[in-house]
Amino acid sequence: MSAFEAGTTDVAELLRSRIRDIPDYPQPGILFKDITPLLADGPAFAAVIAEMAVGYADVDKVAGIEARGFILAAPVALELTAGFVPVRKQGKLPAETYAQSYSLEYGTATLEVHKDAFEPGERVLVVDDVLATGGTAAATAELVKRAGARVAGIVVLLELGFLSGREKLPGVPVRALLAV
Ligand code: AMP
Repeated sequence: MSAFEAGTTDVAELLRSRIRDIPDYPQPGILFKDITPLLADGPAFAAVIAEMAVGYADVDKVAGIEARGFILAAPVALELTAGFVPVRKQGKLPAETYAQSYSLEYGTATLEVHKDAFEPGERVLVVDDVLATGGTAAATAELVKRAGARVAGIVVLLELGFLSGREKLPGVPVRALLAV
């Protein structure tokens, strides 16, 4: 697998230099990819958001995965003049929800989306910071489908290729701005 290539050399370099590794967080053995240095750099943040949006001019909604996915998905939605939909951890959304349990690199969790978040057949771009084992993204894709919409694609800043996350997402176009 190659990361998205054409014209993204600079963005890939930005990501390499502004995502830092934090060993043993949040638990021993996990190498945490911390995007806060990237977010703190205005021009780098803008370049990355613009790059995430490339190729998705026709989507109706952008779904962000709590919590770091929100930070990226909202500006991507604005860039595309699309709506923003939060996919949240269990118990956080106030109206009726669909719930989907999944496992991640560390622990298990449940994600929810409002039952009325999408119009039937809407095209949805799913956004998160890191694709690791793929459980989070797969649960989100399932929620989008259960809520009556279609997953146009999944875009992440960083893919941890050795965890083979995209294997959990057959038939879904997955784009990573950088793969390690
Ligand atoms: P997964 O379900 O294993 O693909 O995990 C993806 C989710 O967990 C994303 O929402 C990431 O923010 C977070 N995550 C998993 N592993 C890491 C990591 N090594 N560094 C930073 N975030 C991670």
